[in-house]
Amino acid sequence: MSNRKLPFDKAKLEEIASKWPTPFHLYDAKGIRDNAKRLKKAFSWNKGFREYFAVKAAPNPYLMKLLKEFDFGSDCSSMAELVLSEKVGNVGEAIMFTSNDTPAEEFKKAWELGAIINLDDITHWDFLCESVGAKTEADFADRVMCCRYNPGPLKGGNAIIGKPEEAKYGFTREQLFECYSKMKAAGVKRFGIHTMVASNELDPEYIIDTAKLLFSLVAEITAQTGVEFEFVNIGGGIGIAYKPEQKAMSLERVGEGIEEAYKQIIDGNGLKPIKLYMECGRSITGPYGYLISKVRHIKNTYRLYAGLDACMSNLMRPALYGAYHEIVVPGKENSGDTSVYDVTGSLCENNDKFAIQRLLPVMERGDFVVICDAGAHGHAMGFQYNGKLRSAELLLEEDGSVTEIRRAETLDDYFATLDFSKL
Ligand SMILES: *Cc1c(COP(=O)(O)O)cnc(C)c1O
Repeated sequence: MSNRKLPFDKAKLEEIASKWPTPFHLYDAKGIRDNAKRLKKAFSWNKGFREYFAVKAAPNPYLMKLLKEFDFGSDCSSMAELVLSEKVGNVGEAIMFTSNDTPAEEFKKAWELGAIINLDDITHWDFLCESVGAKTEADFADRVMCCRYNPGPLKGGNAIIGKPEEAKYGFTREQLFECYSKMKAAGVKRFGIHTMVASNELDPEYIIDTAKLLFSLVAEITAQTGVEFEFVNIGGGIGIAYKPEQKAMSLERVGEGIEEAYKQIIDGNGLKPIKLYMECGRSITGPYGYLISKVRHIKNTYRLYAGLDACMSNLMRPALYGAYHEIVVPGKENSGDTSVYDVTGSLCENNDKFAIQRLLPVMERGDFVVICDAGAHGHAMGFQYNGKLRSAELLLEEDGSVTEIRRAETLDDYFATLDFSKL
């Protein structure tokens, strides 16, 4: 049974649900703020440290605005994410545009916003120049250009993202040298370098090694091409402890380890100070978002089922990757009366299960069921298959007040793209 502590109790949920019927996603503002402070503190040794929140994890402008209090920028990879970023006032170098297989109109939008453009491929340099009509040195005067490095066989694999050499992202090592020289020759004066090789990683050493790899590369590229770097972007990929036996990554250890490597490699090679950037998504909002639902039916056949009013369209990680999410039944946390359940949704897919054969308090219709760690890739991965509507998103403020930061969809939303009059 879970011993997760929630930032709300059953009475609070009853109060909220009287206004917003379940299911809904609830984000804990204090949790997000405290975590943001922790991250900044761990990297306070680096002048200019900045986190660019990976918008895809939780593309809600109110959450982005909350993160902006800590000067977090936006890591965007699509038109919609660029527009969201613009709406919250993150423009210019507060945007890291890290896309792949990028359409011309997105490069244009990112260019117009003054974003830092992080190229995914060597051919994208010419494609970018063409897309935005940049030709002369003056067009690049203040631009910050970055390339995404794929270390290939030089870096061991990570469970979710896989082996770098099988990943579609980024430049080879040789291509990096060529592209930076080309950009320099075209008149670009400001540069950064990026890699992203981990996802949901819990070992701080893996992240530290990634930083080391980039620091060494910076020293080499500078020595060979004369290109000087303003920043190193180590990407996202800091994991969260979804399972009770897992331990959250120590940000303090990551900060210390990277500081050591910085002193050794950047200072050691007499390079100018470099800003450290990150673009974490999951670890920023993941642990602070909860999918709140209620038991709709209890069914006892070959197995015992708790059928919720939420389904995989509210959180598809368990169905998609067999991901584990902790489940709490508020008000019954300490109940000695337990059973083993499959916790399901109502989608007509047998993998629509939030948990399989999980020991939980004995439940009955109407009980609240809280699915933890749903604050990243939760609502964001929502869909409407089987006529399921996306739920509301609510923000629980530190003073206990609740703000609706996205309303629930209605049938009218679902039908909005159909013209019944032509039937
Ligand atoms: C998804 C993604 C991130 C964020 O990854 P997390 O695992 O959520 O930290 C950062 N950068 C890029 C380019 C991504 O695609």
